[in-house]
Amino acid sequence: MTIAKVIVDVPSQNTNRPFDYGIPPQFSGVVQPGVRVIIPFGPRKIMGYVVSLTDKSDFDKIKDIVDVLDITPILTTELLQIGKWLSNQTLSFYISCLQVMLPQVLKAKYRKELWKTTEEALPEELALVFAGRDVMDYEEFEQSEVTYQKLRKFVDEGWIDVHYEVKSRETRRTTSMIESNKDIIELEESLVDLPKQANKQRVIVEHFLEYEQPVPKKQLLTTLNTTAAALKPLIEKGILREYKQEILRDPYGHRSFERTQPFPLTAEQQTAIEPVLATIERKEHDVFLLHGVTGSGKTEVYLQSIQRVIDDEQEAIMLVPEIALTPQMVERFKGRFGSNVAVLHSALSAGEKYDEWRKIQRKEVQVVVGARSAIFAPFTNIGIIIIDEEHESSYKQEDRTRYHARDVAVERGKIHSCPIILGSATPALETYARAVKGNYHLLTLSKRMNDATMPKAELIDMRDELHDGNRSMFSRVLKEKIEDRIAKGEQVVLFLNRRGYATFVMCRDCGHVKECPHCDIALTYHRRQERLKCHYCSHEEPMPNQCPECESKTIRYFGTGTQKVEEALQQLIPEARVIRMDVDTTRRKGAHERLLNQFGEKQADVLLGTQMIAKGLDFGNVTLVGVLAADSLLNLPDFRASEKTFQLLTQVSGRAGRHNLPGEVIVQTYTPEHYSIQLSSEYNYEAFFAEEMKLRKAFRYPPYYFLTLFTVSHPNQLKVQEVTQKIVQFMRQKLTDEADVLGPTPSALTRINDRYRYQCMVKYKKEPEQRKLVQRILHYYEDEMKQENGLQITVDFQPYQLM
Ligand code: ADP
Ligand code: ZN
Ligand code: ZN
Repeated sequence: MTIAKVIVDVPSQNTNRPFDYGIPPQFSGVVQPGVRVIIPFGPRKIMGYVVSLTDKSDFDKIKDIVDVLDITPILTTELLQIGKWLSNQTLSFYISCLQVMLPQVLKAKYRKELWKTTEEALPEELALVFAGRDVMDYEEFEQSEVTYQKLRKFVDEGWIDVHYEVKSRETRRTTSMIESNKDIIELEESLVDLPKQANKQRVIVEHFLEYEQPVPKKQLLTTLNTTAAALKPLIEKGILREYKQEILRDPYGHRSFERTQPFPLTAEQQTAIEPVLATIERKEHDVFLLHGVTGSGKTEVYLQSIQRVIDDEQEAIMLVPEIALTPQMVERFKGRFGSNVAVLHSALSAGEKYDEWRKIQRKEVQVVVGARSAIFAPFTNIGIIIIDEEHESSYKQEDRTRYHARDVAVERGKIHSCPIILGSATPALETYARAVKGNYHLLTLSKRMNDATMPKAELIDMRDELHDGNRSMFSRVLKEKIEDRIAKGEQVVLFLNRRGYATFVMCRDCGHVKECPHCDIALTYHRRQERLKCHYCSHEEPMPNQCPECESKTIRYFGTGTQKVEEALQQLIPEARVIRMDVDTTRRKGAHERLLNQFGEKQADVLLGTQMIAKGLDFGNVTLVGVLAADSLLNLPDFRASEKTFQLLTQVSGRAGRHNLPGEVIVQTYTPEHYSIQLSSEYNYEAFFAEEMKLRKAFRYPPYYFLTLFTVSHPNQLKVQEVTQKIVQFMRQKLTDEADVLGPTPSALTRINDRYRYQCMVKYKKEPEQRKLVQRILHYYEDEMKQENGLQITVDFQPYQLM
């Protein structure tokens, strides 16, 4: 193989294909699929990824690779394949899809070093170059006589390894190790030879007679209560040997985790896990939906499924939403699997992330627990992939490569022939629909552990409050109950939706919300023009000055912030100690955890917050959860508004009464009759699903239809309108009659950064030509899109963010 096919690091339509490069003899055998190379490209030298090797090229004159950046591939052939698939799925550039799978450190240029990774003496050729050092500069190595082929062989054989220097201080985390340089008999002999007064040296040698394995120098000195001075002569005489070993930065290293044993499963858990284990055994691909209320023992099912995979010497990927990746969560996995777990999430530094990734790449762990991007863990023998809280929208990446981790999981599951578990108390409608249809295998956990019941939820109609003269944001019941809990020394969680600022229009008298006549979706209030607009179709109307239902004049746009709520609460109940948690109070690093700790230590009576308090909180002393404006999410211009409301209310309710004290939930709403509010207070997912599916069908939304969202932006509004109009026309012309092409419509966020945004939405069932058509559009506008601050067109297949 003398030619490499390379994806070059130039994200553009014209370069979105492999380019052929010759492999000069010094790199043959080293250049292989999955390594990065430096190649001449036009006048420049740039980076690229080798995706395959071949013997002949269709081009007569090809240039040669000038340098190789990796000695061992950083992408497996499977991940190269996934990258290709991702690029087709999302119509992103192949190069972006490769980059999205890698830790940050590998995307930029970093200085490389060669590290000695063995205690043994290096082969002569290597020893000459290393000249007694444990670490040497890669560039210096390249100047030596040793060939790349040899280098690769030495790396494969485990003598040395290539390291990327992240930040000079961070990477160089090494520790001095001491080991015996002699066999037992020689050690015994050296003991005899020691001078009589050398007691300290004697103790050290005796240690190595008893324990053969190397120990960190520091640890040796402390356990034997001795000094480096005593060690030195032993090393000089060649009895002991000192060497440096890399310590991978382990963000959880300073903590020890108590090991936990698997629980004997309940009958329900047993029934749920059996088909999963059978699939693992048969090495088959299948997708399971584990539908279980919070606290029903889903995590235990995950843990025991992973255990089986580990026993089979396979590997497991466990995804949890970023926000739920709390120390509590990590503890459960570290507790069961100890150091066999790598953890990947965004709070880690680039260096820490890289280290965790390396543990996976080097096969030092069999389990990874992480947020979205952990789905690209470079395992090669995956036995299971689990996605907890699968309905979470954070599994969808919202920029550049718009992938959904669930789709990647299923694709990798097919390749590895292994099962996928999607777990949730409130599955995404799409997922549950597939399970009902039989495409996914439905497993149900219907009961909480220990027969604990879900907390009782009470709906408070805020219109009644108003009629009775209570204009506060707190109903009388909620106020009384908060006071009651404070008196008892119990705690309260108050939840307010961050998107409470969303500008929908509602009548405070009758709760009427202005909706689009064509879409059954709340109209968005545009303050500047005093008009209401539909975010999905082109409908718009003036802002009414009285309620069309009851003629009340109290119709107005709606929005409440946490700060306002805090002030109101302090006025109402001055003795309440309140911790407010929202984007403002948690901006600084560590603030989130600190506030939660304070609440856990009962330094406050009330925790008031947004979305971020909805998940994973587990405080035994919380016996009351209050939801202030349950409707705020409901009226977002999003066809998933009801679904999100149901999910969120279920989540929030789960925060109360988690331990011995019974819990209670108060939900304040202007629309207590709305099915998502009704049914979430009854914890009735199935009924909600049935109801919501009817509407999705009627209004032609997923899961009955697929969506494609074009968002066009440009500083000039006319230009945006014109381009979007053209796209709409083109799609209307080319797609089948079955497809709905809506637009052009201003996006809900019509102007961001002085750029106007318009959109076109396609609803369809089956349009095999669609991707080709989109590609044609992107191609057509390519030059305009290259200009700085020029036209931008993004296409989202399966959009979750519709703003
Ligand atoms: P979920 O993931 O569905 O919220 P968990 O797995 O966290 O539920 O289980 C809830 C609680 O019940 C946890 O404290 C867990 O340790 C405990 N638990 C789970 N399975 C069992 C079991 N089979 N026997 C006893 N306790 C269990
Ligand atoms: Zn009204
Ligand atoms: Zn509409």
